[in-house]
Amino acid sequence: MSNLPLSYKIKAVEPINLLPKEERLSALERVGFNPFLLKSEEVYIDLLTDSGTGAMSQNQWAAMMKGDESYAGSTSFYKLEEAVDDIFQYQYTIPVHQGRGAEQILFPVLIEKMKMKRGGTKPVFISNYHFDTTAAHVELNGAKAVNVVVEEAYTLTEPFDWKGNFDLEQLVGHIELNGSENVAAIIITVTCNSMGGQPVSLENIKAVYDIAKEYGIPVVMDAARFAENAYFIKQREEKYSGWSIAEIVKEMFQYADMFTMSAKKDAMVNIGGLCCFKDNEDLYRSSQALCIPMEGFATYGGMAGRDLEALAVGLYEAMDYGYLSARIHQVNRLAQKLTDAGIPVQKPTGGHAVFIDAKAFLPHISVDEFPGHALANALYLEGGIRSAEIGSLLLGRDPTTGIQKASPLELLRLAIPRRTYTNEHLDYVAESLIKLKKNRRKISGYRFTYEPVVLRHFLAQFEPAL
Ligand SMILES: *Cc1c(COP(=O)(O)O)cnc(C)c1O
Repeated sequence: MSNLPLSYKIKAVEPINLLPKEERLSALERVGFNPFLLKSEEVYIDLLTDSGTGAMSQNQWAAMMKGDESYAGSTSFYKLEEAVDDIFQYQYTIPVHQGRGAEQILFPVLIEKMKMKRGGTKPVFISNYHFDTTAAHVELNGAKAVNVVVEEAYTLTEPFDWKGNFDLEQLVGHIELNGSENVAAIIITVTCNSMGGQPVSLENIKAVYDIAKEYGIPVVMDAARFAENAYFIKQREEKYSGWSIAEIVKEMFQYADMFTMSAKKDAMVNIGGLCCFKDNEDLYRSSQALCIPMEGFATYGGMAGRDLEALAVGLYEAMDYGYLSARIHQVNRLAQKLTDAGIPVQKPTGGHAVFIDAKAFLPHISVDEFPGHALANALYLEGGIRSAEIGSLLLGRDPTTGIQKASPLELLRLAIPRRTYTNEHLDYVAESLIKLKKNRRKISGYRFTYEPVVLRHFLAQFEPAL
């Protein structure tokens, strides 16, 4: 299976264009050396994110023609609801415009129920690792976000199968420390995006659920990459090697009470999300009520009928073993090419991206001149390739002291869109990085010419620190 080519062929194509080197330089100068601000037409290969950037299938496009655009009770909604019930065995479905839409209608409800039913007053959410928007919605609702991922996750190049797992001792420790009445929910992020798309084992998911039940705490699955996680379980957890992806997904979701999903990742749509409940009608009704002012009426939740259709199909396609295996191999193949050339990358490779240790790649650039960002700019200049820094620049300053927070790692992330690029494209990415490695001493760091106060990496501008 692993040596087979991709399990699809190309029917529609989108031209891409490599600008001449001097135009790449002037584009980068124009945007203050921040690739986020480039026009997409100035980018040749775009590895900025795997979110909403995948290619839809002919079956998804065909389904879109059947989109029912009725404001209420759309047939397309009922199809989606049926797909969710079939795949995850969850009774209640609320569509939302994307993952953060689910977070904004669910978290206030979880906090309110916690206060009403369990008498808690200081809400805390505990996760293997909160994704940035997830942490933001926890904090916007006046709660605290605690991360308890296993220690192994923090060692970049030391292989470990389950770098997304919860440290169960720390989980129990934080429940006891905060009081179980104050834990609004436990969030299992599959795969663990912030740790590099690393999987959570079924054994760990079950253990987390058992602990949650013991303390009477609800469990939310943050399910953006549910199928990639199931694939890793099949590969790495012996007990499940003979199970189909669909069976593993069903099993995983038995050990949660609800899920939020950014459908822009595994579910293969360009926009969309879900907020679903296994059987808790009370939580469902309350979130539904919030959905109406925040996202739209509860059978469309900010999505067009055609998008609901594409999502209902995408959820199934995400679980296709041939596709998943080709995808994970494609990501792994890029990581292997870089490793073979002596470029340090995260090990093992996660599901959706390759992470390069920028501090080791550019040892002459100090952390306050952002080695990850310097490498992102150098890669754009070298090959027209867009990528993203995950390090000090992203982390930002402590809001009270104004001092730069200490980032454990300085990384460059190459996120791989689904079904979008061929192995040849990614070979070109590897070759560009190998060329950069030879001339890496010439790469300089960057300092701010404009630094926004919040989420600075999106809009900041820089100059080379020569
Ligand atoms: C992308 C993502 C989200 C947020 O979803 P959006 O669709 O970007 O709003 C939440 N959690 C995880 C794990 C994600 O990867």
